[in-house]
Amino acid sequence: MSPRPAGAPPAEIANISVDSWTEPFWVAAREHKLVCARCASCGTFRMPPTPFCPNCNSQDTEWPELSGRATVYSFTIVRHPVTPELAANVPYVIGLVDLDDAPGARMFTNIVDCDPDTVYVGQPVQVVWDDVADGVTMPRFTPLTS
Ligand code: ZN
Repeated sequence: MSPRPAGAPPAEIANISVDSWTEPFWVAAREHKLVCARCASCGTFRMPPTPFCPNCNSQDTEWPELSGRATVYSFTIVRHPVTPELAANVPYVIGLVDLDDAPGARMFTNIVDCDPDTVYVGQPVQVVWDDVADGVTMPRFTPLTS
């Protein structure tokens, strides 16, 4: 496992829920590949993955691999720990990012490996992989520098 990114929440609170609709996402994440559910009938991306396409109601889903580039749509800086487990982690950034090559798909994440006060709306970011625990890898995003 790689070192965890600075600003990632503690492993103790990483709790993922996997079902047949989300499993391809988590399997790819373990291989450090960012994928997004896309309707195989009409091409509409959806994040989080849902059983039915919100555009055409099809259940045919494909999982293209994305570049990992995204743009900060919104964010908040958490400065006060809401639980005792987070006391050593504040401040940290919770972000909502638009996935650049999956139009319409947004993902909640953490913006990591940066000074929280430098994050801004519209900021280009890139996925980094957080191997939280054995078999659990979370996508986080860090500011793109080039
Ligand atoms: Zn569709």
